[in-house]
Amino acid sequence: MSEHKELVIVGAGLAGPLLSIYMARRGHKVSVYELRADMRKQDIPAGRSINLALAERGINALREAGALSLIEDQLIAMRGRMIHDHDGSQVLQPYGQKEGEVIYSVARGELNKRLMDLAEQKHGVEFHFDHRLHTLQPESCAMEFKRSHDDSIVRVAAERVMATDGGGSIVRRTMAAYSGYDSHEEILPHAYKELRIPAAENGKHRIDGNSLHIWPRGGFMLIALPNPGGDFTVTLFLPSEGPISFVELDGREEVSAFFQAHFPDTVALLPDLEKDFFANPAGELGTIRSYPYHYKDKILLLGDAAHAVVPFHGQGMNCAFEDCLELDRILDQCGDDWGDAFAAFSKQRKPNCDAIADMALENYLEMRDSVTDPIYLLQKKLSFKLENQYADRFIPRYSMVMFHHEIPYAEAKHRGEIQAGILRELTAGKTSLDEVDFQLAGRLISEKLECMG
Ligand SMILES: Cc1cc2nc3c(=O)[nH]c(=O)nc-3n(C[C@H](O)[C@H](O)[C@H](O)COP(=O)(O)OP(=O)(O)OC[C@H]3O[C@@H](n4cnc5c(N)ncnc54)[C@H](O)[C@@H]3O)c2cc1C
Repeated sequence: MSEHKELVIVGAGLAGPLLSIYMARRGHKVSVYELRADMRKQDIPAGRSINLALAERGINALREAGALSLIEDQLIAMRGRMIHDHDGSQVLQPYGQKEGEVIYSVARGELNKRLMDLAEQKHGVEFHFDHRLHTLQPESCAMEFKRSHDDSIVRVAAERVMATDGGGSIVRRTMAAYSGYDSHEEILPHAYKELRIPAAENGKHRIDGNSLHIWPRGGFMLIALPNPGGDFTVTLFLPSEGPISFVELDGREEVSAFFQAHFPDTVALLPDLEKDFFANPAGELGTIRSYPYHYKDKILLLGDAAHAVVPFHGQGMNCAFEDCLELDRILDQCGDDWGDAFAAFSKQRKPNCDAIADMALENYLEMRDSVTDPIYLLQKKLSFKLENQYADRFIPRYSMVMFHHEIPYAEAKHRGEIQAGILRELTAGKTSLDEVDFQLAGRLISEKLECMG
């Protein structure tokens, strides 16, 4: 016998609970099934990356769901990238130039727990933990879940299923096998490992607590995001194989020598470097592109299940949250006609999710390499100046992605390409802003960039 449910959401990571709030607010009876135990009752790791960068798209989706106020006390503003050179010198590169143009560090676990509390307590969403989706019949939405504590099988049927079961989504794999729809994964040849800078004895941050720290080293990099307790979550991004890679760092001495050679100013900040290095696994990174995101009016993929991206633009969660808000808006327009809404969601989100996937890949190069390049720095200064002078036409691409939720990702990417051409032309052979021809800048901008609505 299987239990019958109206709307099942598979996966209670970051997107699932927010989606459940949106759907319950529309009057649907929502049941969420999650493979892990309830992190509010058991101390379990929240999965990948301990903290994340939350930006305007994610904030807007939380705000619209009435969830932002719940998490505000946990947000740490990061006003820019603090670049750490080999010699230990530090330079702040602000993310934006206007009041409020900051991004926020937030703890994944705390965000996840508070969203689940809100969904359960205010919106009556039912959560079922320790339920791993094992099989799904797309036509009937009949599902089998496995429970790890006794290996039992729970059968559930639903009118429809929304899948927020992450990059390894079994729902996406089932849809691809069943209907032959397009899905492919590109694994990055680089992986990541998390480390920790503990708080100072007085409980304060040991390095600036309102920046995202980067140690760019060309082919690899280290980053650190602040936590409310005064500590930092540090992430090493490094090739998986090759002369400078995770495979080469196979002993305590190798790890210690690697950090001494490439990140000497971090050695005193990382007292548990070798212990953490071998205790924490190296995580894989990749991009998932699939299409369509739906199957008839039965199944919809959202978040990483549909379109995982590499983390270098800090947008995976933000994009997953934006998915939830977009679906809600589309349902308003379609009068809850699920077939039309799912098809519209696939069509509207695909170009935007592909665009952020591309920009996230490009940003890896920028973070680990270009941020120290004089021409990059000149172009960044120039783009802030052009934004001041031509606010209705020119906004730096990073700002469009991080601070302007009203500009879709695909438009940010398209305008960003045109702007990059303009910046290249204006800075060719130049070393300072004084040498830039601002008359030419005005002409190029009005010829090439349409006014933003
Ligand atoms: C190192 C790193 C750093 C990142 N930094 C940022 C950042 O700064 N900013 C940002 O916006 N994004 C960031 N991201 C991306 C972000 O983590 C993801 O985009 C986000 O978690 C996607 O949310 P989701 O709900 O779609 O998937 P997830 O959060 O992965 O949740 C999926 C859930 O489904 C459950 N599940 C999986 N399979 C099953 C099953 N068979 N049955 C039942 N449940 C299942 C999982 O247990 C999990 O709880 C980062 C990612 C990484 C790896």
